[in-house]
Amino acid sequence: MRGPAHPEIRDSVRALCAKYPGEYWRRLDRERAYPTEFVAELTKAGMLAVLIPEEYGGSGLGLSAAAAILEEIHASGCNGGACHAQMYTMGTILRHGSKEQKQRFLPGIASGELRLQAFGVTEPTAGTDTTAIRTTAERRGDVYVVNGQKVWTSRAEHSDLMLLLARTAPRDKVAKKTDGLSVFVVDMRDAKGLTIKPLRAMMNHATTEVFFDGLEVPAENRIGEEGRGFRYILDGMNAERMLIAAECVGDMRWFIDKASTYARERVVFGRPIGQNQGVQFPIARAYAEGQAAALMVREALDLYEAGEACGPQANMAKMLAADASWKAAEACLQTHGGFGFAEEYDVERKFREARLYQVAPISTNLILAYLAEHVLDLPRSY
Ligand SMILES: Cc1cc2nc3c(=O)[nH]c(=O)nc-3n(C[C@H](O)[C@H](O)[C@H](O)COP(=O)(O)OP(=O)(O)OC[C@H]3O[C@@H](n4cnc5c(N)ncnc54)[C@H](O)[C@@H]3O)c2cc1C
Repeated sequence: MRGPAHPEIRDSVRALCAKYPGEYWRRLDRERAYPTEFVAELTKAGMLAVLIPEEYGGSGLGLSAAAAILEEIHASGCNGGACHAQMYTMGTILRHGSKEQKQRFLPGIASGELRLQAFGVTEPTAGTDTTAIRTTAERRGDVYVVNGQKVWTSRAEHSDLMLLLARTAPRDKVAKKTDGLSVFVVDMRDAKGLTIKPLRAMMNHATTEVFFDGLEVPAENRIGEEGRGFRYILDGMNAERMLIAAECVGDMRWFIDKASTYARERVVFGRPIGQNQGVQFPIARAYAEGQAAALMVREALDLYEAGEACGPQANMAKMLAADASWKAAEACLQTHGGFGFAEEYDVERKFREARLYQVAPISTNLILAYLAEHVLDLPRSY
């Protein structure tokens, strides 16, 4: 098997993460607080700007570098959920923004002066079915007036900008339901007509509800053409899937390591519990499945970086890696017995965090539906 890509980057990430042990994350988890210091240090080290081209102040590396960073963050017991979004949302500005917009936003994002961590797509009545969103942006002269509501808008309180998807033409007035949606960069600093409410969830994810009540967004903040926003968002989804898959691979490695260490050390009936096949086998199986998932992530990244189509591989990578991390989480918790439930072992926290990826940013069912329809040529089920 090939060694991991970007070994030097991985070493630096591990060194940085070592300063943020379980104790740090436990405290934040209890208080539902944001890992400000951790994100600031990642930003300062240029880790969140690896995908931004050098001409805009980033390091212009490929997606596999970003994946390596997120995987190591998670394998170290930390969590990239606090800051991973700018890696993929930035791509929408890079690919579809004008030269002026790139100049205006990207250098600030690269330096950390401007945080683009919020991504407003999901609404209370539109999650999986994105085109059903009801938030509208109505053009009035030089501005768009935004009304509506988003939900699960993570990190909105810790971001300056939000990438927002809104309807600029009613769903029943367009030829295809994917038409009539537009993407905006919303500057949330001192914005009038914008209310953010924290949404307490199963894990510490800084997620919120966002209400728009006549918020004015300058027309110059619309990315690309009016009405084509759904395609722009879709364009970035393969990258998002691969980055999330890399986080899942990192989680899987953390769980396997934690479970194996505990199984070697915990003595019950006068011998290490890891000597029992009933304890070994679930860990070994999760390891094997995790390695297979990691190969699929690597395959998807290779195709993406070669500029080839990678939709099926990116989707399979996300699903297999999320499944592998969840299986490893289950094996790890079971191996720890009662102590798996104790906060101080970090297992229960990581267990809650790992569960998310079965649902978000896309649920397993929708990946299976994608494969059935687009790879296996089966009838569309929805
Ligand atoms: C912690 C957290 C953070 C999030 N952060 C963000 C964010 O920053 N920005 C953002 O925009 N969104 C965010 N989301 C939202 C997330 O992307 C959605 O929850 C997800 O897309 C699913 O949408 P839903 O919750 O509305 O589920 P629904 O669409 O209501 O689906 C419910 C269930 O039904 C299943 N289902 C639906 N239709 C079908 C079908 N046709 N076939 C089979 N099964 C189906 C789904 O798989 C799912 O299991 C976040 C969510 C969470 C929990």
